Amino acid sequence: MTKDTNSSSSYKELHQANNAFREYFLNDSSESVAAYRQVMTSLAETIAEQVKGQQQPYSGKSPADLVAGIAALDIFPEHGDTLQNVLDRTKELVIESNISVYHPYCLAHLHCPTFIASLAAEMIISAFNQSMDSWDQAPAATMIEQALCDKLCEVYGFGADADATFTGGGTMSNFMGLLLARDHYSQTHFNWNIQLQGLPAEASRFRIICAEHAHFTIAQSASILGLGAHAVVKIANEGLDEEVAALENTILSLKEQGLLPIAYVTTVGTTDFGSIGAIGQLADCAHKHGLWIHVDAAYGGALMFSDKHKYKLHGIETVDSVTIDFHKLFYQPISCGAFIVKDKAMFNYIKLHAAYLNPESNEELGILDLVSKSIQTTRRFDALKPFIALQHIGVKKFGEMLDHTIALADEVSNIIDEDPQLQLAYKTPINAVVFRYVPGEALSDAEADAINSDIKIKLLLSGKAIIGQTAVYERAYLKFTLLNPMTSVDQVVDLLNEIKEMGAVLEAAYMAVCDNETVSNS
Ligand SMILES: *Cc1c(COP(=O)(O)O)cnc(C)c1O
Repeated sequence: MTKDTNSSSSYKELHQANNAFREYFLNDSSESVAAYRQVMTSLAETIAEQVKGQQQPYSGKSPADLVAGIAALDIFPEHGDTLQNVLDRTKELVIESNISVYHPYCLAHLHCPTFIASLAAEMIISAFNQSMDSWDQAPAATMIEQALCDKLCEVYGFGADADATFTGGGTMSNFMGLLLARDHYSQTHFNWNIQLQGLPAEASRFRIICAEHAHFTIAQSASILGLGAHAVVKIANEGLDEEVAALENTILSLKEQGLLPIAYVTTVGTTDFGSIGAIGQLADCAHKHGLWIHVDAAYGGALMFSDKHKYKLHGIETVDSVTIDFHKLFYQPISCGAFIVKDKAMFNYIKLHAAYLNPESNEELGILDLVSKSIQTTRRFDALKPFIALQHIGVKKFGEMLDHTIALADEVSNIIDEDPQLQLAYKTPINAVVFRYVPGEALSDAEADAINSDIKIKLLLSGKAIIGQTAVYERAYLKFTLLNPMTSVDQVVDLLNEIKEMGAVLEAAYMAVCDNETVSNS
């Protein structure tokens, strides 16, 4: 009897507790739905106002200013505050000091403005929170992601044996390419299953070849794969005439030294220079010598959607695997990437069956658990973003946007090339423009480098422009990544003029220092 009373009172308490928690979640009560509507509508208004009113790509707040604002907060308070108050503070701390990816002067990195259609998709993704690991957590989403994977294979020219998976981005896609290359090599050459047995003794002799300008994630992958960053052998850059010969010679010379070249990575659009190699010829050469060829098309993969520029990717259909990044030239919100493999059987190297998630019996029922071809478990439904955006925009207009960015970069390159105060590093086949301010001959190379670095930092800390910086033959260069199709030539020319003015002021300051030194030395 006593026991019963106890249990019924705890039953009641439990029930009350439920009610007290409900207001914090999206759920079927009218209060929750009303609160959701209210907060999303008012937040959309706040965001719209911010985007509309932001004159500069950055507020110009210094690192110290930002830290001071955050330090004044109790991040994990004992008791919560109203959501409105929290969002108001967030507006001040974050929203107002974000880099505006929509601004024409946000042009340092492969950091893109986003399609409205994809932002709508993001709302669906987060509200419904499907998880792509197993079909019972994402039934329709799984089928859409798979349909998109099949479509991607088709677009990039692969046959029925190909398959793909969505990833968090280029880093993970490159890692997957090299993981499968390593495991396939080991299985076929040494009958050795790395997933079960760990690395074979021969692994210390495995080598991955790539160009000098390959993305750093190639070396990072080699490290994580237990091959060591030293396993990466660098050769001539993409797009240079000698690239294919360099690959051939390197493979032969490594083999002569008793080393085991397992894979070649070529980049379609190197991060700094946008270079693209002769993919088909490189693939032939790699295959002739038994290497896996992976194409890192994180930057340039989108060109497949441009009638004008897709020829630059000729031969991509012959390679073993490809990295595509949707959160770069596909204008998708972060994160959204894909990995394509020519032979879907390669996914077997990473396939694991968990009784709770993707039992083998599911396959027999036609239930598709995407975890079987991913190195992530819980995973976002990022595929919805390109799915919605491309249906809305259409391939033709999307291709025209890409063409426009490349035409803009060509025009800007010509303008720089004709300006004696500026120097163009070289013309790129995509929308990157690498150049520098050229001071008078009285200044040393080191001073010229310092002036270019100063220009970049000054623009950033004033919030006026976020431009890139890189090195060409160890000299400091500036970089525009002109991936925003809304940017006009005039806007870029204005920025170039600003850069030249800043360069002249900095140069005068250096000259003054030189003069003073000359005076004091004499
Ligand atoms: C951006 C980039 C990567 C890394 O991709 P993330 O999406 O940032 O992980 C790899 N390779 C190239 C060529 C890239 O441009």
